[in-house]
Amino acid sequence: MKKTEKNLPVWDLTPLYADPEAWQRDFDRIRGKTAEFAAFRGTLGQSPAQLRKAIESSLELDRLVEKVYVYSHLTLDQDTSVDSSRARHGKLQALLAELSPQEAFFVPELLKIPEAQMQKFLKSKLLAPYRRYLKEILEEKPHVLSEPEEKLLGAFSNLLHLPGEFFEALNDTDLDFGFVRDEKGKRQPVTHGTYRVLMESSSRELRKRTFHKLYRAYRQFRNTFAAALDGTVRRHTVSATVRHHTCALEAALSADRVPESVYRNLIASVHEKLPAFHDYLELRRRILKLDALDMYDIYNPLLPGCRKSYTFGQAAELVRNAVAPLGREYGQILEKAFEQHWIDAPERKGKRSGAYSSGCFDSFPYVLMTFKGNLNDVFTLAHELGHSMHTYFSNHTQPYVYADYKIFVAEVASTTNEILLFEHLLENSSDPRFRAYLFGHMADEIRGTIYRQTMFAEFELFMHETVEKGLPLTAELLSEKYRELNQLYHGPRISPDPDIALEWARIPHFHYNFYVYKYATGMSAALKLAQNIRSGDPALREAYLGFLKAGSSKDVLDIMKDAGVDLSTPEPVCAALDRFGEIVKSLRAELKL
Ligand SMILES: [Zn+2]
Repeated sequence: MKKTEKNLPVWDLTPLYADPEAWQRDFDRIRGKTAEFAAFRGTLGQSPAQLRKAIESSLELDRLVEKVYVYSHLTLDQDTSVDSSRARHGKLQALLAELSPQEAFFVPELLKIPEAQMQKFLKSKLLAPYRRYLKEILEEKPHVLSEPEEKLLGAFSNLLHLPGEFFEALNDTDLDFGFVRDEKGKRQPVTHGTYRVLMESSSRELRKRTFHKLYRAYRQFRNTFAAALDGTVRRHTVSATVRHHTCALEAALSADRVPESVYRNLIASVHEKLPAFHDYLELRRRILKLDALDMYDIYNPLLPGCRKSYTFGQAAELVRNAVAPLGREYGQILEKAFEQHWIDAPERKGKRSGAYSSGCFDSFPYVLMTFKGNLNDVFTLAHELGHSMHTYFSNHTQPYVYADYKIFVAEVASTTNEILLFEHLLENSSDPRFRAYLFGHMADEIRGTIYRQTMFAEFELFMHETVEKGLPLTAELLSEKYRELNQLYHGPRISPDPDIALEWARIPHFHYNFYVYKYATGMSAALKLAQNIRSGDPALREAYLGFLKAGSSKDVLDIMKDAGVDLSTPEPVCAALDRFGEIVKSLRAELKL
């Protein structure tokens, strides 16, 4: 494949597999490797040596599957219209679905090994490299039921996902928002995809019409949306109870060994710093020259778009300079991203939209994005390379078993890079319009990631606690609480359109399980870490690099603490929102408002 298209880099997948035939050879090994692993069934408790062999067989299989999978999805995403890529991916998914029951014996059999025997095993030198891995599995033991009980639950497990599937079918397929007429009288369909774009319009009338159009559809089906959400929340609370957790929140957070206090501290800290958010909204109202701000005045650009345009080479140079405070080692590895062709940047028909960093233990950490040359694309490049560098460092420091980092920390390195870029651009510009644009951009990022996601987190907690009290989640109750929270977060100066009370109906994340708070803690950590890195203190820089190299070798809160952010205290979130307050102040100063 050509390494560039129109001066934009194209990724090189040949180090992963030289050609599809090489991929096929590995694909053909999966069945045999699965059988090899499945042969350990019934033998795990024999001896530490036998258990170690079984673990290594399992990891070897995982590692092979990941490599085969990554090539398959990367080739598909670069051009989804290629039949052979679609066929390859479909074939792999079918094989994995067919083989997965053969691997299912492992965890239940491990948990059945008697306690005293397992303790002896854990002390064995042979199992030392896998002690953490085993302990994580064994921690589930108090939450695993007897075999007939698990079998019974297993029989119902598909049904438990139905509320979420109802939501998706209704929200993504059946719901018809109709259309609005734009400023020129042209019919514009309202869809999930166009809603965002229409809400960014400079025409307030159009934004208002779009907003009402969207929520009219949600109002019509509000009871169905409420029933689906009630079902999802009930699923979380019932499974927390039957699995002997104290509540749904504790059950969800225990997967990351995060105590409930982190979640509750986040909400309390954000409450404390709401005045800074209200200040921002007041400034937004003044910049937009409105008498009063409504909920459809929040997503349109604060300032006219930044018209600066960048070549890919200039963008790469900006990222290089922005991350220079991370030191030589980081800089040298970053160069590999360009020299070894990790990045696929051209716009291409059939290419998957959006941007991501993806790879495995045996591949480069590839980046897919569409680079059109605007400032947002430079931020995207910095962000995705942040993920890739995190992956690279963890893969090259940790053994395979601990290389993968957890979602709790996944957005920290990427966001840190974005903040470093923001600070670097600020430092090198004296143009008040550009500086104002940058402050506005960062203020909006923090608003969306810390304030908004924490409001969601608080709503999620309310829903679960309501169900845990034995009360049903009706459309009325959900709307009333959502209206109240929205008012609390956005402040007394905003008198929002009553339709916002229905926003709960359209948020897919409410069907996840206490997930969104990680966005808020992640960005808070990133703001602190970027500040540490830019302080020039080599110890703080090394601490950050330690985080990048840690993979999942420690608990997430310990990894963050060693990096320089103690998320078990309210301090990082409060400091992040103090920084938000400063950014809003700087924005006001640049605009002389
Ligand atoms: Zn990301």
